[in-house]
Amino acid sequence: MKPKIAIVFCGGTIGMIQDPKTGSLTPATDGKFITEQIPELSAKIDIDFLPVFNIDSSNMTPNHWKTIADKIEEIYDKYDGFVVAQGTDTMAYSAAALSYAIQDLSKPIVFTGSIVPMSEIGADGRNNLIYSCLVATLDIAEVCIVFGNKIIRGNRAKKNHESFVDVFHSPNFPLLGEIERPIRLNEWRQQRSNSKPTFKPEFESNVRLIKLHPGFDPDIFESHLEKGVKGIVIEGYGPGNVPFLDNSIIPKIEKLHNAGIPVIIASQMEHSITNLNAYEAGFMAKQAGAISAEDMTVEATLSKLMWILAHYTDLKDIEEQMQTNLAGELK
Ligand code: ASP
Repeated sequence: MKPKIAIVFCGGTIGMIQDPKTGSLTPATDGKFITEQIPELSAKIDIDFLPVFNIDSSNMTPNHWKTIADKIEEIYDKYDGFVVAQGTDTMAYSAAALSYAIQDLSKPIVFTGSIVPMSEIGADGRNNLIYSCLVATLDIAEVCIVFGNKIIRGNRAKKNHESFVDVFHSPNFPLLGEIERPIRLNEWRQQRSNSKPTFKPEFESNVRLIKLHPGFDPDIFESHLEKGVKGIVIEGYGPGNVPFLDNSIIPKIEKLHNAGIPVIIASQMEHSITNLNAYEAGFMAKQAGAISAEDMTVEATLSKLMWILAHYTDLKDIEEQMQTNLAGELK
């Protein structure tokens, strides 16, 4: 019997066509033409095409992540694997979010997309889709991204480049596999099992991702407090350093912490591990109540915070969960 795969279609360039008037890319009204581009796969795999929305991924919100998770929950038992086709711009956030929303997976959820639309010569979406469908039939049970020749753990991915070869990378974790002949899966991937997944696709959106810069005004935190912010991720310098002299943000971190609002410090560096013990400028933030994102990407950190805030209320629990490895996002 052929394996059965569902393509959950969410838009992005892989489903876009050129607007003849403006020349810019816009979502096609019917994304079904996508499966018509991969007729050879139907000899090997039964594929169902399930459009859930068709938008540029810049417009995606946690409600869209929930829509994807709900759709997968609805059809989970009917398929051997799932391919989620969406835009690359926010794919790293979506893939991380889904890894928290659906835990203890017994089969794969593979995100993919394209840089060049299907309708153009040299489109990369065709190969990405073919390999994603093939990976979705293999012995892997993770939310992952298949793009170019890489199979990346979804909550370890970062968009890296708008080129065919290196669109996503995995700065702090080795690849789950590579698109070779045959496809190679590494032993540290989660394998298929009989486990029963948990579906908890709720997210809290009232969070902030704040990037520090020289001249940063600490009073910015006050306006977020007034708006009832529930959690903050700060991108600090180097290993997570923050200003602590004239424009110190330390009193603000303390104030947030005392108000029961989690503050997580991540790093602005691309290939980095946050270490709040390295400098006084990180240690003071830690003493004021901030916690470290460790080796998590900013995308995985933010979507994890959103997910945890929707499921826990007590600051201690929230901080403990943030520092717990939920789905392979943290060492
Ligand atoms: N702007 C597009 C999107 O993220 C880019 C892409 O599909 O790669 O939807």
